Amino acid sequence: MQQFRKLPREKRNLHGTTGAWFRDAAYPYAATETCVGHATISTGAFPATHGMVANTWWDRKEQKMVTCTSDPDPSVKNIGYAGATPKGADTAWRMAVPSFAEELKFQTGGATRIVTFSLKARAALTMAGHKADAATWFDGGAWVTSTVYGTQPFIEEQAKSHPAKADFGKTWALSLPEKEYWYGEKALGAVPPEGWDLTFPHPLRGKSSVSEPDSAFYEQWASSPYADTALTELAEKAVDALNLGKAAGTDFLAVSYSSVDYIGHEFGPRSREIQDILVRLDKDLGNLFAHLDQKVGRGNYVVALSADHGVVPIPEDMQKTGADAGVLHLPEVQQRIEIALESLNYPKPSVARITGSDVYFAPDVYKKLQADSNAMSYVLVAIGTAPGVAAVYRAEELRDRPATQTPTLRAFALSYFPGRSGDLFILPKPYWLLDTTPAGKPRSYGTGHGVPYNYDQHVPVLLMGFGIQPGQYFQPITPADIAPTFAALCGITLSSRDGHPLAEALRHPSQKTAARKPVPTANP
Ligand SMILES: [Zn+2]
Repeated sequence: MQQFRKLPREKRNLHGTTGAWFRDAAYPYAATETCVGHATISTGAFPATHGMVANTWWDRKEQKMVTCTSDPDPSVKNIGYAGATPKGADTAWRMAVPSFAEELKFQTGGATRIVTFSLKARAALTMAGHKADAATWFDGGAWVTSTVYGTQPFIEEQAKSHPAKADFGKTWALSLPEKEYWYGEKALGAVPPEGWDLTFPHPLRGKSSVSEPDSAFYEQWASSPYADTALTELAEKAVDALNLGKAAGTDFLAVSYSSVDYIGHEFGPRSREIQDILVRLDKDLGNLFAHLDQKVGRGNYVVALSADHGVVPIPEDMQKTGADAGVLHLPEVQQRIEIALESLNYPKPSVARITGSDVYFAPDVYKKLQADSNAMSYVLVAIGTAPGVAAVYRAEELRDRPATQTPTLRAFALSYFPGRSGDLFILPKPYWLLDTTPAGKPRSYGTGHGVPYNYDQHVPVLLMGFGIQPGQYFQPITPADIAPTFAALCGITLSSRDGHPLAEALRHPSQKTAARKPVPTANP
């Protein structure tokens, strides 16, 4: 989170000197997406273990795209707060290992309460796990959950008294003096939500001239600081209503602030919008920690702060630097594969779907290709020579986590889950955006993420509070180390983890007495 560098000194370390800041934290795998990152933080495992390989993937059995949380069990249904009637059925059933929170509850006698909030089901559910006291997300203007998870009266009350639509008509204006912003007024190549242009202030009024909240308003709201504040308020209400942190067990509260991601897609990382949303998120986090200090007591809770992924600069913006950057058009790649196989007695179409980096072939096509080295080499060359492609990997190269010196091959191997992942995997060149829009058509978003380069993999990891040894730490770590660190603090065992406890940031028993002395703090 580079933005911390420019903030005043007292904001650099959460709570002054009490936090541990890991400066070189990055996901080591390729699938840098929301569902994957949250499942990794939650379980301490990589996607090759936890099985959440993407936000959506091609289900070979169903022959259709599925989301990581869609649950085909007919007895499961999403339910809405405040009278909402959401569609769908979402749970964490596809997550192959338990979350840290589930293990905590299971191994400590069941007194743990598990409460999560996000705008996205794939964040709220993966952080919670397979069951929880509350796992709540936002859909179609309302807070929702599903029948597998508990509903809570305090969420119903908050959904009624502070609905998102109450922010209709508000305006997102810059919160700092204009000279504090690093980037120009308009982000090059940005694609704002409908009803907004490229300059501040951004009005939350839906499509122009509507008088009631419409779908454009909810898109604007989700891309604004008001959504972060709504999540913070829900988290604070949870602490109050359930007495989190003060009952018999160790409670688990997780909040995934989704707006940073939406704004990253729309305006890119080099925008006033992303800077301003982080300045405001910092204030929301400050409010939440102040609330926890007041209700639970400082030192009685431990916090981990991280992100599920980064974002690549908008290609048109990056091209200004003279660097090789561009858009890798996946429909063009698909067409190249079909042409390569055209005269070789393969089904038409041979490709079932390309989603993200993953190429899925029609049933039996890949098996046939594996036995047909000529056709396979045509396909590999057809993909490999498309503009913006750096390499193509085959499923059999990634299986069983092979020992390799190639960082990108290792990254794809750590993302590979048999049965769910694709048959072939496209590695774009650095700063080339994988895009499903056909060439020549305008993109519906500015930029994205999902590849094994540092701009997508590098994220903040900060720990603070009970048992944490403050300081800045420079050894390379991954967000999969968060759950094992919490497990060490709580004295529990995770079933299968790929991370390790961040021992250097844990206080040793001999240090605990010293730590109780007043610690100098840079906070006012
Ligand atoms: Zn995203």
